[in-house]
Amino acid sequence: MDIFELAKSVSIEDVIGTYIDLEGPKQGHYLGLCPFHGDKHLGSFKVTPAKSMFKCWACGMQGDGVDFVSKYLNISPLEAAVRICETHGLISRETADQLFGGKISHLDITPLKMPKKVEQLLAKRRSIEDLNIAYTAFVNAAGHNLSLDFIRVLVEERRLATNELSEYFTWPRNTAKFWSTFREQLSAEGIRGDKEQNAFLLGIPGFYQNLQGGISFVTSRKAALGIPVKNRNGKLSGLQLRQMEPVVEGESRYRFLSSAFANGRGNSRGKYGCSCGYVESVEYPRRHWNRTIAITEGHFKALTLAKLGFLVVNMHGISNWRPAGDVALDLAKRYPKTNRFLLVFDSEDTKPVEQSKQGLAQKLKSSTEKLAVEAACWDPQYGKGIDDVVNSGFIKKITTNKL
Ligand SMILES: [Zn+2]
Repeated sequence: MDIFELAKSVSIEDVIGTYIDLEGPKQGHYLGLCPFHGDKHLGSFKVTPAKSMFKCWACGMQGDGVDFVSKYLNISPLEAAVRICETHGLISRETADQLFGGKISHLDITPLKMPKKVEQLLAKRRSIEDLNIAYTAFVNAAGHNLSLDFIRVLVEERRLATNELSEYFTWPRNTAKFWSTFREQLSAEGIRGDKEQNAFLLGIPGFYQNLQGGISFVTSRKAALGIPVKNRNGKLSGLQLRQMEPVVEGESRYRFLSSAFANGRGNSRGKYGCSCGYVESVEYPRRHWNRTIAITEGHFKALTLAKLGFLVVNMHGISNWRPAGDVALDLAKRYPKTNRFLLVFDSEDTKPVEQSKQGLAQKLKSSTEKLAVEAACWDPQYGKGIDDVVNSGFIKKITTNKL
């Protein structure tokens, strides 16, 4: 077994928990104070066991357990992997010394004890067709009656026209009333009877079997807006919640409907949950297409671009540039009139933003020769996101440069 593989077998919360205090799990995450910036409040540094990843939303540091130890102790990834295995009793001190002394990156080793396999009771994600059926029924059952607060945010802050509001919904609660409407909707799709419906919903990200043996979906403690997300074929590929009240500093207002926290382990709230993974998101132009495929990050930015005539891929997190790039390349193939890709990142010059932009540009350029790859840029004084710039009337201040 490879030392890196072996290190990966130790759960990430155990790896990171060796060095810093972690609280949780709560909604699938452990929280701690980020050791990589002067963190004073819980909220920005999150450890996600379902993905075996940590991420700090304040300073941008992220990675797996080996990355954490390597950065925390300022040692090489190899030394970090060795140290993890030794700390958790998977290799002896002698083997660790040999590995350090030899500076061998890949050595087959026989672990002292096999890491204990903790069984995770997660459901296999269903097909995109099934997700579309479940989420369409969910949105229909939720209805489109938005509170005045929500309407105010959408119209005043996001500059949506009133006829665009019907796309959104108020995030429902697990009430008997909601469930009866939801079940009626599922029946209309040919999925009939509680038993069949419950079985159908396990494997839909966001749903899980609760501790009473029934089915629940993820709700929001505070008022949240529901945003349907569509893939390149116009099918619902995911649902996003947008918290309406201000959130903890460094925490995102947005999250995807996902239930990987319900994995049957320890004090988990349930089992047979399902991770949403990468949620494909495409916005088709709302007016005559300008033959440009834009790639951006965030629902309202994508919407702003679609209204300007762009065909838009929404990355949903700048770390998703690889799968988002694949979607953009497929769209260019589907629509041969495409003449360029436009990368529309926020006007902030952080390392993660720069890495994402460069990675994406390289990917697009190496796959197509005839298409230009450009980036939109503007002075940050006109706004952080493209939607801010456009909504405050500074669209003419946006320039593009070749990447
Ligand atoms: Zn940090």
